Formats: sequence, C-alpha cells, structure tokens
Amino acid sequence: MGSARAALHPVRVDLMIRRKSITVCGYVVPIRYLNIGTTKYGEYDPNTKSIYLNTNKDAHWNNQVLFHELLHAIFDLTGIGEMLPPKVEHAIITALENHLWPLIKFLS
Ligand SMILES: [Zn+2]
Repeated sequence: MGSARAALHPVRVDLMIRRKSITVCGYVVPIRYLNIGTTKYGEYDPNTKSIYLNTNKDAHWNNQVLFHELLHAIFDLTGIGEMLPPKVEHAIITALENHLWPLIKFLS
C-alpha cells in the first residue's frame, strides 16, 4: 500500500505546471527550480530578484512554498524587508503564510 502511494507521487510532480515567473509589485520575478540542499523548501534572492524552489524537496510543486517566497519578494520590492532583521521578516512571513494560505484556498 505504501509503495503504491509512493509510486503515484512522481506522476503528480510531472503533472505540475511549473510557472516560469510571477509578476509582483510591477516586477517580473523569475522562478527557478533547483536542488538547493536538504533544509530549505525555497528561497527568494533579493540580489537576483528571483525565487528558487527546491527540487530536492517533494514540496517544490507546492504553491504554498511559492506563496511564502512571494511574500519575501513583496517585502523586498516594497522596501519593508530593509526595515527588518531577516529572522523577524521570516517569522512575520511564516505567520502570514500559515494564516493566509488556508483562507486563499478557501476563497478560490
Ligand atoms: Zn522565509
């Protein structure tokens, strides 16, 4: 039973539509799919203004991860990120992600 479920998972990954970019705050933010190790699900790089989703994690197809990194992009592009220590920014964004994502899913 467990192996049958595991066998289905790659199909789900293959069927995912990988967005190449997303427009936010008037910027086209590229979305790149890379193996970025075993700890992070994704990352927003303010230097390249790009989002990286970790193909090493099953959740790289998960729009909730994209939503989290999108919030980092919004904080950067609006200048809010410069006002906050990175740990505080991440904590605020995690709270927003955890409480807004279920509402977005509910409303869509
Ligand atoms: Zn974060």
